[in-house]
Amino acid sequence: MTSEAAVAKALEALDPNACVRLAQDLIRVPSVTGDERAVQDLVALTLEEAGLEVDRFDADLGRLKAHPRFPGMEVERREAVLVAGLLGQKGGRSLILNGHVDVVPPGDRQAWHTSPWSAHIQSGRLYGRGACDMKSGLAVAIGAAAALKKSGLPLRGRLIVQSVVGEEDGGIGSFAMADRGHRADAAYVLEPTRLRVIPAQAGALTFRLRVRGRAAHASVRYDGISAIEKYELVEARLRQLERSLNQHPHPLFSRYPIAYALSIGRLRSGSWSATVPDELECEGRLGVPVGMASAEARRQFAAAIADAAQRDPWLAEHPPQVEWYGGQFDAVEVDPELPAFAALRAAHAEEFGVAPELEGAPYGSDMRLLVHEADTPALLYGPGDIRQAHATDEWIAVDEIVQAARVVTAAAARYLAA
Ligand SMILES: [Zn+2]
Repeated sequence: MTSEAAVAKALEALDPNACVRLAQDLIRVPSVTGDERAVQDLVALTLEEAGLEVDRFDADLGRLKAHPRFPGMEVERREAVLVAGLLGQKGGRSLILNGHVDVVPPGDRQAWHTSPWSAHIQSGRLYGRGACDMKSGLAVAIGAAAALKKSGLPLRGRLIVQSVVGEEDGGIGSFAMADRGHRADAAYVLEPTRLRVIPAQAGALTFRLRVRGRAAHASVRYDGISAIEKYELVEARLRQLERSLNQHPHPLFSRYPIAYALSIGRLRSGSWSATVPDELECEGRLGVPVGMASAEARRQFAAAIADAAQRDPWLAEHPPQVEWYGGQFDAVEVDPELPAFAALRAAHAEEFGVAPELEGAPYGSDMRLLVHEADTPALLYGPGDIRQAHATDEWIAVDEIVQAARVVTAAAARYLAA
């Protein structure tokens, strides 16, 4: 069979409305990071009903946490339930479709115009926490696999749908999948990219920084050392580091004002308004340029702080303390010309009559775990706009879910059909 005929057969078997309904069903099962068992039950059932072989397992948290490359975790969790759906057989070509089921908390419920778990459709938009990031993407993956199964097309190898947990706080789910031995020649991670192809992704490293001062009564503040004022010296030096990391960004990042952002997200200092603060603690994230190892970024960060410290007598004697904790996302880049990626770009071009745009992503995702831990070249491609991710009244355009389902189904058929 020609690949055109295989694609036509797969698209005939695709039920795009079922993808939309599945996205709705997935949104209606709340699954804030750390609490994903119920939604994984639904995913496993759906994969089974579609006729896929299901590999469902509980990650061994203790063992994974002790792993030297454990990707970090920010919520307390008692379990991590993983589900994979397998189609075809081992050997030949293989392709992973990866999506995460966990979502960030909805935040202030009053700010939402209806329940975050309503999954209602209004004026062509599907609303709900996870609508964009990324239950629609996962529904597309499952829908594409179901279409391939239903089409009866003989495959040259295996299609694996990965439904993972814990993406939002580091990536324990995709890490566990790699540890389980799930590998493929390529992977599409269906994060919201507005149907652009993202073969390069910046890293993001979470840090904590402690700066010391010396307490004194505010009326004689000159007798004390303000940790806030000392922090300002460090912060100025960190801005300089950010500029130097952004001097020559990767060409796919040229549209961003700052490709690799260094941002302080939390800051706490002092214990009393009339006391000179003797300690400041802050937490933030350091963006890692594409092409730079995380270890090198950490080294430059430490060097910048040491440089600020040695210019100030107090800081030289009381050097700020740096700690790396929580999500540690390496930067990653893959070759967009690999056959599985060429198949995706061709399928997109076929659907829209124009080739997809290539872009770099300034945020982290599970892409780097597939590449680094599972030896599986991965890129991001999926429905939805990242600006809707984590937002109040999060939504996705229903049309985009349908388009993504058609492109991913066609790409999988093009790449895998015998
Ligand atoms: Zn996501």
